Amino acid sequence: MTNILKGKAVADKINDRTNEILKKLSLKPHLAILRCGNKSDDIAYEKKIYKRCADFNISCNTIIINEDTNINNYLQEIDKCNKNKNIDGIILLNQLYPHESSSIIDINKDIDGTNPLNVTAAFLNKEDCFIPCTAQAVIELLDYYNIDVTGKNVTIIGRSMTVGKPLSMLLLNRNATITVCHSHSQNIREHTLNSDIVIAAVGQAEVFDKSYFRQGQTVIDVGINYSEQKQKMCGDVLFDEVKDLVENITPVPFGVGTITNAVLINHLALAAKRRNYEN
Ligand code: NAP
Repeated sequence: MTNILKGKAVADKINDRTNEILKKLSLKPHLAILRCGNKSDDIAYEKKIYKRCADFNISCNTIIINEDTNINNYLQEIDKCNKNKNIDGIILLNQLYPHESSSIIDINKDIDGTNPLNVTAAFLNKEDCFIPCTAQAVIELLDYYNIDVTGKNVTIIGRSMTVGKPLSMLLLNRNATITVCHSHSQNIREHTLNSDIVIAAVGQAEVFDKSYFRQGQTVIDVGINYSEQKQKMCGDVLFDEVKDLVENITPVPFGVGTITNAVLINHLALAAKRRNYEN
């Protein structure tokens, strides 16, 4: 019988940790969202963030920037947030000039762990750095469901800086053996079938059917897609087909995404705690 690894119980536990931090703070944390353009996916995600912030009595504002803004203007907007003492955390939606903008974001406000200093700290297995929320969400899920990765073969499909790459390093730090696949990989099926744990993060609706999986595996689906055909949200894995085959699988929605939102608020609370104790 397959275990459906739902995100809510994991998120609840993270939220308890967040509430512990918040109740000791003498200030109310504030999140700044810098959103470039008006993409519907970004606006939908932003709405979710606002809702989560409201649940925790956290304040939040959005700075909307034109998608065609030049690099100087964009970096200036980030710098304003860096310098604003009322802002604890910064999120960049539809990030422009990723190389430069990641480097400039204040590491103490970089709650999605994009600054190269935070990236390096995660690679070095240092505590007290901000890890990209989605990558950390996967780790929280594995911990909550007691899935030990030591010595396990793990295939991650997707190599973005926010999911695949940081996750590969976090799992390597936990002594897993990692394979990272991407759009140029040959024979992805061979890798997934050879793995104990498969993590899909490609952003393509239900592209991995049951031929990619076998009994006994754990399948973590990070993808959040909209299926035009089914008119609903879905992951990268064809859940209905795969769920009866493997040992553990996350659903979409109500899987990793639920945990990511909780991690984001937790990181914001941690950032506010730093400001609270350092000023
Ligand atoms: P991304 O930056 O677009 O990266 C996608 C990665 O998948 C790339 O490395 C790409 O390869 C690879 N890829 C694309 N199609 C592939 C295929 N058919 N086979 C193998 N590899 C393929 O996306 P992302 O930001 O990492 O997000 C991935 C998915 O996760 C999206 O659906 C996004 O909505 C979702 N997401 C979920 C959460 C959550 O909390 N659950 C959070 C963030 C993102 P190349 O590098 O070769 O291009």
